[in-house]
Amino acid sequence: MRIDVITIFPEYLAPARLSLLGKAGQAGIVQILVHDLRDWTSDKHRTVDGAPYGGGAGMVMKPGPWGQAIDSVVAAPADGSSLSEVATDQGGRATLVLPTASGKVFNQASAERLAQVEHLVFACGRYEGIDARVAEHYRDRLPVEELSVGDYVLAGGESAALVMIEAITRLIPGVLGNADSLTEESHVRPGLLEYPVYTKPPSWRGLEVPPVLLSGHHGKIAAWRREQEILRTERMRPDLINHTRSGTPPRPDQERGES
Ligand code: SAM
Repeated sequence: MRIDVITIFPEYLAPARLSLLGKAGQAGIVQILVHDLRDWTSDKHRTVDGAPYGGGAGMVMKPGPWGQAIDSVVAAPADGSSLSEVATDQGGRATLVLPTASGKVFNQASAERLAQVEHLVFACGRYEGIDARVAEHYRDRLPVEELSVGDYVLAGGESAALVMIEAITRLIPGVLGNADSLTEESHVRPGLLEYPVYTKPPSWRGLEVPPVLLSGHHGKIAAWRREQEILRTERMRPDLINHTRSGTPPRPDQERGES
């Protein structure tokens, strides 16, 4: 997979070189390229923002530099070849992701869907956001996903992009050391959070590991974990468990929180 991130703060994406993502980059499984939006400005101040039409607080990101930047990176081949070798209208396989507080909420199903895409382009907004014509224009040319990481407002799209990139890329085969880690996690089975997990020592600060986990009895351990998943989901996320227990099973798209 190739991931391009366009931002006015390229240093913000430094964590993408660490940990699992860094290793996936070194192994050639995921290539992350970070671009400075200001490289596509044409004035001496490298201006990326302007006052909002209609008035109001703050500044809005100008469509011009975004158009130039996105045209360049969507045209690049997913294998990571040089941007300059390709004409700007030849792209087609890229999906444009616009992190925005006014988007659909990004969830595990979104991560699973985007993990299938060969080339993702993240456009990180700042100030009061990006001129709305950017999303409108690219919707006619590319798959465009306007996605929110939650019902709160961040200062910029970079941290949201990092969250989404991490959730997406850990689903790509070869990124996690042990692919079995993906099967029993929270949200992987719709409507359920993961059971509590423990490791050595068996007793810590007066708290004991549940005896069943030390019993070696696989059937009893599986039953206990299933019960704990339900109890934890009821306590932490009753909205999820109510969905699962309703009389008629939800459609798959409802189950995955996309309705
Ligand atoms: N005026 C905008 C609004 O009310 O939705 C908020 C702009 S915010 C200060 C600047 C940038 O942060 C946005 O363009 C977007 O890229 C990013 N952002 C803020 N909250 C976000 C969220 N919940 N999910 C994803 N991106 C977010």
